Amino acid sequence: MSRTTYQCQCGATLRFRQDLTPERGGTSRSWTCGDCGLPVPGVVAEKLSHQHPS
Ligand SMILES: [Zn+2]
Repeated sequence: MSRTTYQCQCGATLRFRQDLTPERGGTSRSWTCGDCGLPVPGVVAEKLSHQHPS
């Protein structure tokens, strides 16, 4: 099973749900980097939000 990772502009590599911070605003759910708060592209964040370390 392949895993998605996202390299944030701050240098952090996001792998799991806990690397993201959920943002509640408007009607759509969005995610930001847990380190710096920059927005993470929705498609990538959705995949990451389903990944957990095991
Ligand atoms: Zn970041």
